[in-house]
Amino acid sequence: MANQLIDSFGRVHNNLRISVTDRCNLRCTYCMPEEVTFMERSELLSFEEIAHFVRVAVPLGIDKIRLTGGEPLMRRDLPRLAQMIAAIPGIRDVGLTTNGILLANSAQALYDAGLRRINISLDTLDPARFRQLARRDGLEKVIDGILAAKRAGFHPIKINAVSIRGMTEAEVVPLAQFARLHGLEMRFIEYMPIGADHWERDKVYFAHEILEQLERQVAPLVPVDDYDPRAPAMEFRYTDGGGRVGIIASISRPFCMSCNRVRLTADGKLRNCLFALDEVDVKKLLRTNAPESEIADVIRKNVAAKWEGHEINTSRFIKPLRTMHAIGG
Ligand code: SAM
Repeated sequence: MANQLIDSFGRVHNNLRISVTDRCNLRCTYCMPEEVTFMERSELLSFEEIAHFVRVAVPLGIDKIRLTGGEPLMRRDLPRLAQMIAAIPGIRDVGLTTNGILLANSAQALYDAGLRRINISLDTLDPARFRQLARRDGLEKVIDGILAAKRAGFHPIKINAVSIRGMTEAEVVPLAQFARLHGLEMRFIEYMPIGADHWERDKVYFAHEILEQLERQVAPLVPVDDYDPRAPAMEFRYTDGGGRVGIIASISRPFCMSCNRVRLTADGKLRNCLFALDEVDVKKLLRTNAPESEIADVIRKNVAAKWEGHEINTSRFIKPLRTMHAIGG
């Protein structure tokens, strides 16, 4: 495709993450501060503005969308947005990342809207640990949400757990067993420096340690046959037939060189990397009826300027000003 979004390292971008709100009903310590000044509602892109942006991005090769936040289900009427996006010709995949707190009531409506792939964040099955990590209660609601997603027909359902040394080691096996029992894919994410708290490399519970723990305490693992090198997760399957597990090793095995993602924040800023220090405003263009060619040009230039990688493992790393909840996870 002549118009493709290709950066100077030859990476082709087809994946757009859209944050629909920075609000959240949890306050996970690794993600956001307890006290937050949220964006004014007037700052948020409307559903029509988001859909307009997607329509401009599709001819540039964007065909995969993930809705996120903040907590996306805190945005009223989210199924309507999912439906609007799923109906755009050229979009072949719409997914959602949610903490699951509000999912029990909306899973069916989201499925009916055309959403098929869902990632639900759950770091622990222990209510006290949940409260410690999320600074709120809610474990039961998340479990209800997961079961409702299953009943609604979502497949695959992936459960994302952040792995923090000294905090989540004891959660790995119970989460893996829970996922195996319910036919879900468990994914462990190495803790990244994108929250409000103080990140240190020593606090990352690394991929190889998680894998070793799973093999020792759950079942042997082998890489999956349909391994996708462009996907952030390294995927494995249990040799006893107990399903799959994924590891997102952003720190110990960065996957920047196969990154195919751009991000649109809830307030209409385009970011070519989760850790980008610069972002470009597209809301103004969308609100002033700028020609689509001008919006497309901004997207193309933003992608072209993408840096090689996040540099977390170097002394050059600079933490972005926005924390994860305001960028979109
Ligand atoms: N509220 C939704 C949720 O909880 O899934 C969507 C947004 S949340 C920011 C998206 C994902 O980012 C979650 O799985 C969360 O655990 C992950 N996340 C947030 N901060 C992180 C960090 N410092 N390191 C690794 N993952 C993080």
